Amino acid sequence: MQRVLLLGGGHAHVQVVAEAARLSAAGAAVTLVSDSRLTPYSGMLPGVLAGRREAGAMMIDLAALCARHGVDFIEARVEGFDRAARAARLADGRTIAGDLVAFDLGAVPDLSAIEGAAAHALPVKPIAAFLDAHARLVGAMERGEVRSAVVVGAGAAGVELACALRARAGAAPRLTLLDPGLPLSSLNAGVRRRAARALARRAIEARSGRAVAVTAAGVVLADGAAIAADAVLLTGLARPPRWFARDGLPVTEDGSLATRDTLQLVGEDDLFATGDCGHVVGQTYPKAGVFAVRQGPVLARNLLARLERRAPERWRAQSAFLVLLDLGDGTALGGRGGRLAFEGRWARALKDRIDEGFVARFR
Ligand SMILES: Cc1cc2nc3c(=O)[nH]c(=O)nc-3n(C[C@H](O)[C@H](O)[C@H](O)COP(=O)(O)OP(=O)(O)OC[C@H]3O[C@@H](n4cnc5c(N)ncnc54)[C@H](O)[C@@H]3O)c2cc1C
Repeated sequence: MQRVLLLGGGHAHVQVVAEAARLSAAGAAVTLVSDSRLTPYSGMLPGVLAGRREAGAMMIDLAALCARHGVDFIEARVEGFDRAARAARLADGRTIAGDLVAFDLGAVPDLSAIEGAAAHALPVKPIAAFLDAHARLVGAMERGEVRSAVVVGAGAAGVELACALRARAGAAPRLTLLDPGLPLSSLNAGVRRRAARALARRAIEARSGRAVAVTAAGVVLADGAAIAADAVLLTGLARPPRWFARDGLPVTEDGSLATRDTLQLVGEDDLFATGDCGHVVGQTYPKAGVFAVRQGPVLARNLLARLERRAPERWRAQSAFLVLLDLGDGTALGGRGGRLAFEGRWARALKDRIDEGFVARFR
């Protein structure tokens, strides 16, 4: 019997688990290892932060999903990988090997990139830990103990996080969104213009600058300026686990697992990577859940193809993809490709339908 080992319960792997019957029918025993029984679907996080959804609504129960599809689930943290033995080293001292191994471990903010961040900043990932910290922060804002916050990183996560804070904590706290570039700089000009207006309407100051240090007093910028703040939240700066490179796995410049367009690691036929922890060499696309979601079905088919000794299919990142940002007030801001930009209540309803539809597949 062939062993298929899935490391990390990310957006691609939940889809492989849901399709595991096909792998079992081809003679494979499938195991999923993830560090927590519940994995969050980040698209719903802004709704949770704004207080309109329960945290449970965005969680996929990996143990239950695995049980339904005949997959063994191991709740453990992966801390290393023995490439020759194709075996993961777990934090509890165990090792677990696979004939085919896939990585979908996501990425977490690299706190070492900003001095003092580990001591003074709240990273948005891992999401489960952030939810507790966020609840305490909102409470302190409501009591007037925290009167200002800086959100570092003005990508989709930063914009949604700042809007959710405004929705939750009211008009009083001073909120700043800090980024070296403009908010949503990777999206089209129409979306950027709408985002600038949406932030201004919410009295969220979009400030240009690179954070180099976080202290108890706020953020220090590369040009020496400082922003005083009672709380600092960190988005962006995500990087994959450092042990990928340490353990001799092929990595790109930013430390992601380097894959071919078949999602197989460069130089390996039996190792695969998807989502934020990997990158297809030669293709340009950002780290976003939408790509992990799109890679899931291809990964499932390519694992099956490998078991059946068939040629794998190729994955290509779509150049235009739909972006929908929850603005925390019942509306969403959206866009696609180089031109399309829109916002409104209907956009939030569309986002809810897509997000709820995804999570419902794994319930
Ligand atoms: C506020 C916010 C909003 C966002 N909104 C969007 C959006 O609307 N659209 C979009 O496309 N993207 C969005 N993103 C980005 C999105 O979260 C990520 O791109 C996406 O989660 C990546 O999916 P993944 O499968 O790579 O990994 P993840 O979803 O991060 O899953 C990784 C899994 O592996 C587990 N794991 C991690 N490390 C280990 C380990 N060492 N051992 C065992 N298990 C481990 C984790 O617990 C988790 O279950 C948002 C991000 C944030 C923070």
